[in-house]
Amino acid sequence: MKIKDHKKFENIKIISFDLDGTLVDKNTFDKIFWHKVLPELYAKKHKISIKKAEELVTKEYYKAPQSHPNWYRPKHWFKFFDLKEDHEQVLEGMKEKIKVYKDVIPTLKKLHKKQKMIVITHSTRDFLKFKMEVENLKQYFDKIISTTDDLEAIKKDEKIYKLILKKLKIKPEEMLHVGDNKVFDFEVPRKIGINALFVDRSEKTKGKFVIKSLEQVMNFI
Ligand SMILES: [Mg+2]
Repeated sequence: MKIKDHKKFENIKIISFDLDGTLVDKNTFDKIFWHKVLPELYAKKHKISIKKAEELVTKEYYKAPQSHPNWYRPKHWFKFFDLKEDHEQVLEGMKEKIKVYKDVIPTLKKLHKKQKMIVITHSTRDFLKFKMEVENLKQYFDKIISTTDDLEAIKKDEKIYKLILKKLKIKPEEMLHVGDNKVFDFEVPRKIGINALFVDRSEKTKGKFVIKSLEQVMNFI
């Protein structure tokens, strides 16, 4: 069956992508770091079981205010738990866990030829350093914005999108944002006039601007 032609977005100057869950599998690197690797270090330090360590560490994560950028920073938690290992080395040691979705590189290759692209993510620089290296992901992007580290903001709210548009010197309608969070990658940007596509790889959501694979971005450009 031929894919029905979508109405294309016009005059797009920049396509911005969310990172975790959109380009990079969020259940790999970050999750393993917070729920396996860090608890293992904690278990080693206190000579307790890994299971117990995971319990204790997770309890502390949820006690702390998630509204603070530090909550997303490995460095903060290494200090908090008094772990002597170097967090950067620990992340480096597990970088082979990072997985880029298989539809990503082929799509970026095609888009790269005709479109300026950026990444807007709340992933911190510590993680980004390794994530953007995988399959040389960073070569496709003009800019990588970590809202947490560059803008001290953990949510991609209206204010953050407006600030980014201002920095990029473009109008909302000249941007297309693509991401996997229904609220912060889709509803929020659309509210201020940014075009958006919602990535739902689980195929649970239906809609004119819902895509199940990144390759479908090509239908709108
Ligand atoms: Mg995401």
